[in-house]
Amino acid sequence: MPSPATQDAVDTPAIEFRGVVKQFGDNTVLDGLDFTVAKGDRVTLIGPSGSGKTTILRLLMTLEESDGGLIFVDGEPYTHEMRGDKRVARSEKQRGLVRRRVGMVFQQFNLFPNMTVLENIIEAPIHVLGWPKAKAVDKAEHLLELVGLSDKRDARPTQLSGGQQQRVAIARACAMEPDIMLLDEVTSALDPELVADVLGVLRNIAETTDITMLIVTHEMQFAREVSNRVLMFDGGKIIEEADPETIFTSPENERTQEFLRAVL
Ligand code: ADP
Repeated sequence: MPSPATQDAVDTPAIEFRGVVKQFGDNTVLDGLDFTVAKGDRVTLIGPSGSGKTTILRLLMTLEESDGGLIFVDGEPYTHEMRGDKRVARSEKQRGLVRRRVGMVFQQFNLFPNMTVLENIIEAPIHVLGWPKAKAVDKAEHLLELVGLSDKRDARPTQLSGGQQQRVAIARACAMEPDIMLLDEVTSALDPELVADVLGVLRNIAETTDITMLIVTHEMQFAREVSNRVLMFDGGKIIEEADPETIFTSPENERTQEFLRAVL
């Protein structure tokens, strides 16, 4: 039996949104959103374009600022906290410490073009985590093996295919040893024949690590194979949630049925 303290740590969600509000001008995209992601979960967000999925990932990367509510990462308040009944912004330093636990892979890879593959991967571990170079290189070489690109360590991003660049971006995110990985349409910019390689790498990471994943994708096959929970969004709200098998074979909500008919 785990001790109560250990049990608490296990039960603390990796991510919790509590009444989160996000507005762009007078467009209220999230209007008091609540949801939790348990540690080690692989959760896919699906739903029509404009339903707020990317905004959720961007809030978790502090690329957007929320207008209300609280976000917790591993039980710790992230960008804001309550002091009495006042919602106050946390300091840059406090945010930065939480932010390190979260890695993101974008649709457009975002590799540094002037650096080699290896340099792309070791940059943040050295400069953000303060690792000695030898340790960062060791880790990077291991990750390049994992994503099948050991022979490209000295190449520049422009010498690689889109699929290879995305695999480097995945290795780079993993190099920071995040507890949580956010994946935003990571296969959308790829030619169809390259999609399978990237999905294979992600499936491998999902199967061999206990990293928590929050995934936004139009690849329903990917959602089905990698995630254990699917949240269907519409208008910034979760209108249905279930395991992938249930949601893809017998969705209950009419809007989910309609959406899946259009994308499957
Ligand atoms: P999804 O990822 O589900 O397609 P988004 O989170 O990208 O949805 O967008 C949700 C809503 O927020 C849309 O109405 C979109 O136009 C709006 N939005 C997103 N980012 C911005 C921004 N930077 N400025 C203004 N409106 C935005």
